[in-house]
Amino acid sequence: MKRLEFLKSLPLITAGAMYNLNELDQVTRGFGNTETMPVLFLGHGSPMNAIEENEFVAGFRKTGREIPRPHAIICVSAHWETRGTFVTAMEKPRTIHDFGGFPRELYEVQYPAPGSPELAKEVSNTLKDVEVGLDQNWGLDHGAWSVVKHLYPKADIPVIQLSLDTRKTPQQHYELARELASLRKKGVLIIGSGNMVHNLRMVAWDKLNSSGYAFDWASEASEKMKTFIRNRDHHPLIQYNNQGRAFQLSIPTPEHYLPLLYVLALQEKNETVELFNDQAVAGSLTMTSVKIS
Ligand code: ZN
Repeated sequence: MKRLEFLKSLPLITAGAMYNLNELDQVTRGFGNTETMPVLFLGHGSPMNAIEENEFVAGFRKTGREIPRPHAIICVSAHWETRGTFVTAMEKPRTIHDFGGFPRELYEVQYPAPGSPELAKEVSNTLKDVEVGLDQNWGLDHGAWSVVKHLYPKADIPVIQLSLDTRKTPQQHYELARELASLRKKGVLIIGSGNMVHNLRMVAWDKLNSSGYAFDWASEASEKMKTFIRNRDHHPLIQYNNQGRAFQLSIPTPEHYLPLLYVLALQEKNETVELFNDQAVAGSLTMTSVKIS
């Protein structure tokens, strides 16, 4: 390269380097050195919880007020299953209305929280043994926005989603989640959103509005799950397929249950568990939510 051309290209190089430095600075400043953030499993239940006033919504709001304000949120939602592991990496995630047959009001809800391409990259760097795809197409599905909106109604905290890789075993999901532990000390709130007991085929439609109604198998599984959680006995929860008929009926497909394993995997030895919104709905769902801190 001639000297003149080299000189001409210099400002560009410098500008590029500065941008990268600024970006790095933002990452370390924004996500650096905080007290350890809690971890939450939120039972999301019906999408209508996004717009209704009820005890569950009150429970989400209370939790949002009680915990330290995060720099950013990673949500593992039951409603984003992929082949391989992905994180949303766009600046402005769209609000996805991934359900059918609900009132128009629900389709009009927008949750315009920003994304965080920086955090997406940080997750990708943190999960060293997993190839993490940076996704530009998804957004926020209702597993994420229908609950996060009650914690942070102003939509002023960046939210990214981490997908559920359908090829992983429950043990592998648990191990992947463990690797996210360091992010908790960088002001990142990790939320799993699903339902511990979730069997839509068995819903008692006539009991939809009578909160607290549970089929025997749902109560049995729910009580066992809660005992395992309280005793920090995660092994049988990971091996949920071996826990008999009540568990099989409660977890007919894994996607609403697996976010719980992400949350439990992040419990450190000195941390306690608090259950809230511990209520069954329509026989075959539980809204039971978990706070680890
Ligand atoms: Zn759901």
